[in-house]
Amino acid sequence: MPIAARAYAVDRPDDRFHPFSFERRDPRPNDVAIAIRWCGVCHSDLHTARGEWGGTKYPCVPGHEIVGEVTAVGSAVTKFKEGDLVGVGCMVDSCLSCSACQAGLEQYCEPGFTGTYNGPEQGTGGNTYGGYSDRIVVREEFVLHVRHQPEDLAGVAPLLCAGITTWSPLRHWQVGPGKKVGVVGIGGLGHMGVKLARALGAQVVAFTTSPSKREDALALGAHEVVVSRDKEEMAARRESFDVILNTVAAPHDLDPFLLLLKRDGTMVLVGVPAEPHPSPSVGALIFRRRSLAGSLIGGIAETQEMLDFCAEHGIVADVETIRIQQIDEAYERMLRSDVKYRFSIDMRSMAE
Ligand code: NAP
Ligand code: ZN
Repeated sequence: MPIAARAYAVDRPDDRFHPFSFERRDPRPNDVAIAIRWCGVCHSDLHTARGEWGGTKYPCVPGHEIVGEVTAVGSAVTKFKEGDLVGVGCMVDSCLSCSACQAGLEQYCEPGFTGTYNGPEQGTGGNTYGGYSDRIVVREEFVLHVRHQPEDLAGVAPLLCAGITTWSPLRHWQVGPGKKVGVVGIGGLGHMGVKLARALGAQVVAFTTSPSKREDALALGAHEVVVSRDKEEMAARRESFDVILNTVAAPHDLDPFLLLLKRDGTMVLVGVPAEPHPSPSVGALIFRRRSLAGSLIGGIAETQEMLDFCAEHGIVADVETIRIQQIDEAYERMLRSDVKYRFSIDMRSMAE
């Protein structure tokens, strides 16, 4: 039987969120049915809901930082049972057979993975609806075990995107003891980048455009905080970084950050502005053989590794909890960088 779901959706780029009812698919033998308890609010939700990246299918139900409880499992499911605490991140399916999937890098699936929202669903080509909803049905391979305490769940939800999107490049570029890493933009992704880089043992410097975040960034685990609009503070740190993780959601000049890298250092872009950044200067790259790179979320095994690391180290996101009815207001505040540091939606509010 298909599962009746309640959600909040937008019908056009300039719409406000409104209640939306639909049916989740009749669970297949390899599916896990989940009652969603919390869903984090990612800047990608806003980019998609407002059609800023193009290609948004409406109605659009965003949300890919999902935690909840298993309500039922299909007959072929082996890793989950009713009552388990679980997470779902940015992907709900992929081919599982291409070289990327075989390497545990489902986010780089060659035919393309299925996003938790804005589809297309494998097999049917239909649209997928995300976590601003009370129920979801996901194939077992894309469901994660949550080993945190139940009272931590609001802050666990953002790990499913903000956590893994920062964890994956930190691991790939081998951030750890003896490495100096910069995290640019202290929002949802950036605040997780600071926490995770610190827990991995690196020297961590936070870069922010908001002087008011200075104390917070230190409390999150940064050893130092630099206000990136201050040219002197920036100049004092030239050629000292191994890795810079840039999470900024708006176009900006990349050169001042590239110049902070040592020889062979790398700046990894994870922020995806709606408009391009101005081109970096070739000089900033060639004179110290610097690299400019990008990284997309993370694979499923790596997401489980990150969740387990966070459970073991007592790491969750710093969240402000909201009701689903406050989602439009939350978007406006996110655009003003006025969130400490992730909104997490209490899905019990769906019943109001
Ligand atoms: P967010 O919470 O809004 O944080 C972005 C931060 O960027 C802000 O808090 C602000 O930090 C800084 N910022 C904003 N506008 C700026 C400007 N004009 N100039 C300089 N800094 C500015 O967003 P988020 O959820 O962390 O997402 C960040 C970006 O990553 C989005 O574009 C999102 O779509 C993308 N994303 C990518 C992936 C991936 O797989 N690569 C995954 C998830 C999200 P300060 O106040 O500290 O300056
Ligand atoms: Zn996201």
